Amino acid sequence: MVWMDTHCHLDAPEFDQDRSEILNQMQIHQIEALVLPAVYFAAWPAIVKLNQQQPRCYASFGFHPIYLAQHQPQQLKELTTWLLEHRAVAVGECGLDFYLPELEVQAQEEWFIAQIRIACELDLPLIIHARRSTDAVLKCLRRFPSAKGVIHSFAGSTQQAELLVKQGFYLGVGGTITYERAQRLRAAIQAMPLEFLVLETDAPDQPDSQWRGKRNDLSRLPVIAQALADLRQESLATIAQATTANAKRLFNLPE
Ligand SMILES: [Zn+2]
Repeated sequence: MVWMDTHCHLDAPEFDQDRSEILNQMQIHQIEALVLPAVYFAAWPAIVKLNQQQPRCYASFGFHPIYLAQHQPQQLKELTTWLLEHRAVAVGECGLDFYLPELEVQAQEEWFIAQIRIACELDLPLIIHARRSTDAVLKCLRRFPSAKGVIHSFAGSTQQAELLVKQGFYLGVGGTITYERAQRLRAAIQAMPLEFLVLETDAPDQPDSQWRGKRNDLSRLPVIAQALADLRQESLATIAQATTANAKRLFNLPE
């Protein structure tokens, strides 16, 4: 069985002490590839460096809504160049965050729309952060029929999941699925076609229920996969085969 971690912040300072060791552990844990979504402009060079160190760490560049205050309009002009020059597999992490009240909604939407537009122009998938904002994200996406991508760490309802899948969007399944109390999410993920699910750690964040309070890392991906297999009553091999194939299709990765 081989796995794909479709959302991993290995550039985060939490990994400063042992980043290379973690990269070396990819093989031990049978993680075939990682997608590294950058969250702001200053992080892009570190993503490039990781991609050069390990070509199976794929780059994605974008502007995360949480760091709205740091984003500068001239940085947006750089996005297309960086995506093309560094063979990025996606645009993101971008999206909308309605959980933090200090993030101005209109500015968030402007940054998100600008990134959707660039992704469509380059025919790249989007890696989307949607916290308490799934309906607003859907509304933005409807304006761009050719947009594609993944809702990372999907946390919405079955109805929202259905609408996203209908638009061809994938749903990122992470540590939250391992919590029994996440009833609404578990029901939604159980009901969706397996062809639209991809696995992610969101490391160092969102540890699974057995890893609560600890730094998340890629070694936890099989734990998430097992929870998904149990939930859907499918074998771990089926989950591995499908989610790995889905990730390759989504990000257009080589075989
Ligand atoms: Zn993230």
